[in-house]
Amino acid sequence: MIRTRFAPSPTGFMHLGNLRTALYAYLIAKSAEPKGTFILRIEDTDRERLIEGSLEFILKTLKSVGLNWDEGPEVGGDYGPYIQSERKAGYLKFAEKLIENKTAYYCICSDEECLCKGKQENEIKNAMENGYAIRQAMPKEGSTTFIDLVYGEIKVENKELEDQILIKRDGLPTYNFANVIDDHLMAVTHVVRGSEYLSSTPKYVLLYEALNIKQPEYIHLPLILNEEKEKLSKRRGDANFEDLIEEGFLAEAVLNYIALLGWAPKDNKELFSLKELEEAFYIEGIGKSPSSFDKAKLTWLNGEYIKNMLEDDFYNLVSQHLKSSIKKEVDLKKVASYCKSRVNFAHEVTDLVDFIDELKDYGTDLYLHKKMKTTIEGSILALEEVLQLDLDLEKTIEKLGVKNGQVLWPVRTALTGKPTSFCGAHELIELLGKEESIKRINIGLKMLKGLNL
Ligand code: GLU
Repeated sequence: MIRTRFAPSPTGFMHLGNLRTALYAYLIAKSAEPKGTFILRIEDTDRERLIEGSLEFILKTLKSVGLNWDEGPEVGGDYGPYIQSERKAGYLKFAEKLIENKTAYYCICSDEECLCKGKQENEIKNAMENGYAIRQAMPKEGSTTFIDLVYGEIKVENKELEDQILIKRDGLPTYNFANVIDDHLMAVTHVVRGSEYLSSTPKYVLLYEALNIKQPEYIHLPLILNEEKEKLSKRRGDANFEDLIEEGFLAEAVLNYIALLGWAPKDNKELFSLKELEEAFYIEGIGKSPSSFDKAKLTWLNGEYIKNMLEDDFYNLVSQHLKSSIKKEVDLKKVASYCKSRVNFAHEVTDLVDFIDELKDYGTDLYLHKKMKTTIEGSILALEEVLQLDLDLEKTIEKLGVKNGQVLWPVRTALTGKPTSFCGAHELIELLGKEESIKRINIGLKMLKGLNL
């Protein structure tokens, strides 16, 4: 049974790389047969780097995209607690085992130097009380090898590995130690994390070996770069998940987009719900070259999500924007349905509906539509006739014996004053009402006639 974990440190906001790690860890568990378990573990042993509110933020973000964890904070589970600082007591006995077999040693450090040596057993307690740290003793010779399911075989010369701290002076384990122990204790089968941990993994491999415990499978994920091919960074102004949501991207679209940043489906499908991803995901589809965040692509995807939305959902999404831009009594649901296929973001409806309350100044060149072969004279004729025939567009077309567009285009133009609109002349008349439509057609006529023909 596959068990994966997402193991964030509550040291800041969720960047896209974090979210992708969470998503892939979730998908690796959920695409398995039988379905695996997705664990959320909070790695908070580096107390100085903690940022208040960040844990809540991580939980909220995961929930908002539907990455519900089977075990972890709030939901519990058989392997808890799932917050590392609450597991403090358990790590020491593993460290002591390492000291026993001489793969770790005690150190006491001042600002200038560290005094380190293997301690006798009776001194262990004393040493801990006096603020010793425990370090991993790396072998000086040989090499360490492991297989990563994305990057393949990785081999490092042991002499390049530093003796890393396992237990700090405050008695808490470092991330480097805690992740190994907890992955073991939580029976994690697949470790999914960013490629920045690839170079530390040999040290973890040595710990697993020294403790004689089974290693998990490793799946390291390549970096996500920005459009300038730099590592994504908030400081350089790259958007994190929260920023994207604030800009108007839909959480589902962002999640879908992130799924494709480093993973390729077997077919060329691009639109995936989380459920569909659970079915389609496979580990071999993860690539090892860094992928670039492409906002234009995400924008397109967002538009596709909007097009595929149910009418009612779309109305709920845009109703606030509509209500603040339209004071006139019009059928807002209908307006929303006209807008749906024309926007990539909810807020874009504002520009589409700006003609409803008030007709803005426009140029008569808008009446000229090459393809529809409209002319100024023809437009005057069409508008006059439409007024004569009580806004009956069909009758007007018939009576004038012209092409549809030669009537519909001038009327559409007169009613909106815009080069494009989200619906045609018939719908516009219905939307604005007869009285307002007549008023606008008269304005159009006046402008057209005012031209010195
Ligand atoms: N706590 C680490 C982080 O925030 C997780 C690394 C891991 O998944 O092992 O990046």
